[in-house]
Amino acid sequence: MPEKFVFTSNPIEQLEKEYDVVIIGSGSTGLTCAIQAYELGLKPVILEKMDKIGGNTNRASSGMNAAETEVQLANGVVDSFADFYKETYQGGGKLNNQEMLEYFATHTALAVEWLSSHEIELTDLTVTGGMSKKRAHRPASTAPVGAYLIKGLLRIIQKASIPLFTQVKVEHLKKQPSGTQVAISIGEGVQKTIVGRSIVIATGGFGAGSEWIKKYRPELLNYKTTNHSGATGDGLLMAQEIGAELIQMEMIQIHPTVQQDTPHAYLIGETVRGEGAILVSNEGKRFVDELNTRKVVSRAITSLPEKSAYLIFDEKVRNRVKAIEFYNHIGLVESAATVAELAEVLKIDKQNLTSTLAEWNKAVTTKSDTEFGRKTGMNNKLDAGPFYAIHVAPAVHYTMGGIHVDERTRVLDGNGYVIPGIFAAGEVAGGLHGNNRIGGNSIAETVVFGRQAAQQAFVYLKK
Ligand code: ADP
Repeated sequence: MPEKFVFTSNPIEQLEKEYDVVIIGSGSTGLTCAIQAYELGLKPVILEKMDKIGGNTNRASSGMNAAETEVQLANGVVDSFADFYKETYQGGGKLNNQEMLEYFATHTALAVEWLSSHEIELTDLTVTGGMSKKRAHRPASTAPVGAYLIKGLLRIIQKASIPLFTQVKVEHLKKQPSGTQVAISIGEGVQKTIVGRSIVIATGGFGAGSEWIKKYRPELLNYKTTNHSGATGDGLLMAQEIGAELIQMEMIQIHPTVQQDTPHAYLIGETVRGEGAILVSNEGKRFVDELNTRKVVSRAITSLPEKSAYLIFDEKVRNRVKAIEFYNHIGLVESAATVAELAEVLKIDKQNLTSTLAEWNKAVTTKSDTEFGRKTGMNNKLDAGPFYAIHVAPAVHYTMGGIHVDERTRVLDGNGYVIPGIFAAGEVAGGLHGNNRIGGNSIAETVVFGRQAAQQAFVYLKK
């Protein structure tokens, strides 16, 4: 049996006084950036405030979107950068930063290739809401992409001996002519300062930051969040202190399918719908194109009197989505041998649910959903028992806004000027997604712009 991979972060005594690139945050953005910086011959360090590595990336489930990849061709999917751009732009309400989006759409295939050259293989495909093609690349095992990615990146970090310190919280940045002073706290009351010749802010979003939510979207304060507790928007404050502008801060994504009947909110990945599940109301009827964008599906659920819905699927969907084993294991999934019995378990109208499934299966056969116009995730009928249901409702999931950057990840001030030597990438950066992030685009963003941040830090340092 292969040995279990164990990663150990560095003891704090090994922290040096100065680095070429100080990377704040150990999500996929930070780890990718560190590897790219190291491969360019720079000396990076990763600082992570939590004891756990991987941030919200650990929770990403569906996949990594990319267009024009070899994986797509091997699966008979002919795609184009232009379509990927156009659909992301439409999905984002045409509020996306177009230079960032252009760079993104044309670099995701390279990012998948780069991962593959580092033995991180995403060779299976699925589809997410708002995308006309299968673009979400995921592991062959169909396992959730985030944890797989973090583990793969950490293997490289370990091999290259790139220093990574956990429980080191960056508090402030201070620009000096010789570099940027990084004020950190290490455990209770211990403060220290190190110098970064360049800085990459990769601290993630503020989906668990109630102060920010209160400021920009107070009506969302009573929503649950799918975010890890460290997603408090620290990077926004430290960037603001050195003159950065924040943009689109009110654009907070609500994810439509979150199981929240227990104190913990569990995101039910978009793949479940991508692989064929439908949504029904308490009446047992469909009410939306389940693979429309997240904002549309969330709105449809909150417009129901019960403000929640059931994801309904069969054994075949379960076999195509590994994460369902986990959802089932922790008790989030209801099941029954037949559709009628499932209706009984859910206490919804038996006849309605039975005819909803029959109608849906007809739509799958004829490839025409006359009721709601769904076009994707319709390759298989829902006809193989047992049948399953997960009770879901929308929750705060992702923050599209953040630090104003350009397509080179350079941080900009309120007048559009570059703040030299400071870069930001991943969820902390604003602009790529417009007012609605497409499922699968966040992981793609972390790899594309994590690499870009390291490349631009290199260019800056060589000047
Ligand atoms: P992304 O998807 O952009 O990589 P993640 O949420 O996956 O974002 O990762 C961001 C990481 O940054 C998290 O692990 C989070 O704990 C860490 N982080 C946030 N604020 C700080 C801070 N002040 N100091 C160090 N690490 C931080």
